Amino acid sequence: MKLLRVLCVLCGLIVPCAALDREAFTFTNYDLNVRVEPEQQRLGVRGKITLRNDSTTPQKNVALQISSSLDWRSIQIGGTAVDFVTHEYTSDIDHTGSLSEAIVTLPREVPPKGTIDLDVGYEGVIPLDVTRLRRIGVAEEKARHTDWDQISKSFTALRGIGYVVWYPVATESADLSEGNSVFETVGRWKAREAQAEMKINLSNSRSTSDDPPILLCNGKGNRLIQTVSMAQVLMTDCSFSPLGEMVPAIVMAQYSALNRPLITIDYVAQHKSGAESYALAAELTAPVVTEWFGTPRQKVETIELADPEAVPFESDAMLLTPLGNANSTVYELNAVHQLTHAAFFSPRPWIYEGLAHFAQALEREQQDGRRAALDFMGRHRTAIAGAEKVLAASHTQNEAADESLINTNTEEFYRSKAMYVWWMLRDMVGDAALKKALASYHADQDKETSYLQHLIEAQTHRDLQWFFDDWVYRDRGLPDFRVGSAYSRAKVDGGSIVTITIENLGDAGAEVPVTLRMERGEVTKRLEVHAKSKAAVRIEASSTPLEIVVNDGSMPESDLSNNNFKVPPPDGTK
Ligand SMILES: [Zn+2]
Repeated sequence: MKLLRVLCVLCGLIVPCAALDREAFTFTNYDLNVRVEPEQQRLGVRGKITLRNDSTTPQKNVALQISSSLDWRSIQIGGTAVDFVTHEYTSDIDHTGSLSEAIVTLPREVPPKGTIDLDVGYEGVIPLDVTRLRRIGVAEEKARHTDWDQISKSFTALRGIGYVVWYPVATESADLSEGNSVFETVGRWKAREAQAEMKINLSNSRSTSDDPPILLCNGKGNRLIQTVSMAQVLMTDCSFSPLGEMVPAIVMAQYSALNRPLITIDYVAQHKSGAESYALAAELTAPVVTEWFGTPRQKVETIELADPEAVPFESDAMLLTPLGNANSTVYELNAVHQLTHAAFFSPRPWIYEGLAHFAQALEREQQDGRRAALDFMGRHRTAIAGAEKVLAASHTQNEAADESLINTNTEEFYRSKAMYVWWMLRDMVGDAALKKALASYHADQDKETSYLQHLIEAQTHRDLQWFFDDWVYRDRGLPDFRVGSAYSRAKVDGGSIVTITIENLGDAGAEVPVTLRMERGEVTKRLEVHAKSKAAVRIEASSTPLEIVVNDGSMPESDLSNNNFKVPPPDGTK
C-alpha cells in the first residue's frame, strides 16, 4: 500500500490518482503483430487495440499495462502520437511482480459506452523470472518449475495475464500475499474480456538452415513457413473469437509432431517414446469420454514443456506438460481430462472443469474399480476442506454466494469440489440418467443458474433443489457425518435388524452411503441426511454385525475421524 501511495504522489503530478479508474475500459478488440526473437530473448509488438468505456462516467485517461520487462515505444490515435507517462506499477499478475504502466491522456473524454482505437508499440526481453514467487518465499527451484514462462534460444513459452502480461491489459494491483487477490483480479479481467476478439500474427525470421521450430498458440489458426530471400519467415495466425475464459499463450521450440486422429503431440526428439505413450493413453481413455460426454468435437493438442519438472498448464483442449518421465496412469489422467474438454463445453467453470476432473475419477474407476476412484478424489479432499476453513473464518451470507460453485474463482472449488459434486449426483441419480442429462445440455442455453438442475431432474423426477442449494448455488461448507446410534435387534428366524441413526453436523446435506460390516460380508444403503439433521436407516444383517461406516469417501467431509462405529451386541438375544 505504501508503494502505491508513493506512486500516486509521483504520478499525481500528471494524473490525479483518484481520477484514474484502471478497470473503466473493456478491451474489446486486439489486432497484434508479435515478433519473437529467441536468440535475443526479445518480443516486439505493434498493433491496434479497441477500448470501450464501460464505467458510468466519462474517462479522460486510460491505463495500459504490460510486463515490466517490456517498454512502451509508441501510442497513437488515428496516426497522431498521444501524451502518455510510464511508470512501474507493482502487481503480481505478471511473473516479474510489476508492470510497465502507460497512463494515456486522451485528446478528449470518452463518454460511457464510447470506444476508442489506439495504435500501440512495445518491446523488450522476456527471460525466466521468479521475482513474484520469491517475494512470497517460494524456494527458487520450485518457483522456476511454476513460473516457467520465457523467451529463450531453445524454448519459448508465454502464457498471458496471470503469468506474463505480453499483451496490454488494465487492472488494479494484485498481490500474491493477499489471499486470492491474483485469482480475483485475473477472474475480473476474464469476465470483462469474455466477449473480446483477439487476432495475433506471430512471426519469427531466421537465417539459419536448421529445421524450423514450431511456432504455435492456443487460439484458432494456421501455421505457415515462407522463404523470403535467404531468410525463413515462420508465421502463425492465431485468433480468439471471442476470448472467453482463455489465457492466450505462445509456444516456440524445435518440436517433432506426432499426429493421431484424436491428438497431436509436439515433443522434443529424445522423448518420442513418452509422446507415443501419451498418444496411447488418449486412445485408451477415449471410450469413457465418448460414453459420458459425447464424441470430442476437436482434436486435442499436447505440447511438451522443456523443464521435466514444470507444472503443467491447460488451456481448453491444449495441454502444456513435461513428457518423458511420467507413468501411464498420469498420462491417462491427463489425456482423459483433455479429451473431456474437447467433448463437452460449458461457459461455467464448475461444469467445464468439474466434469473434466470427474472424468479422471471415472477413468480410475474403469481401470482399477470404485475404490481407486474414491482414493483419487480423496487426494483433493484436504485442499477443499482447507479452502472452506479459510472462508468460514470470515463467513457472511454474501460470501456464501460469492464462493458458491456458480460464482467462485477458487480452483479448489470449481475443480476439486465440483468433481465431488458430479460424483455425488451420479451416485444419487444413476449413470443412465446423468448421461442423458449431459447429452441434453447445450452451452448456449445455459443462461439460468438452475438450467442444469432442471435437466437432471427431467431425467430422474427427483427434487434436487436442496442438493443444488447446499452445493452449487451457495457455499455451505462441507457436511460432517457421524453415526449417532446403532441398535440391533435379533430376528426370530435368525439374523438381526440394525437401526442406524446418522447425524450430519455440517451445513451441507448429502445422500450418504452407510455400510454395515458383518462377520460375513457387508451391506450398503444410501441415506439422505440434510444439514444439521439426523436420519435413520434399517439394515438387515445376515451374520453378526460388527461395524458401521458412514461415507465411503464419495463425498468430501470436514471431519473423517468420526465415521466408524462399533455395533453393540444385540438386545433380546434368544
Ligand atoms: Zn481442465
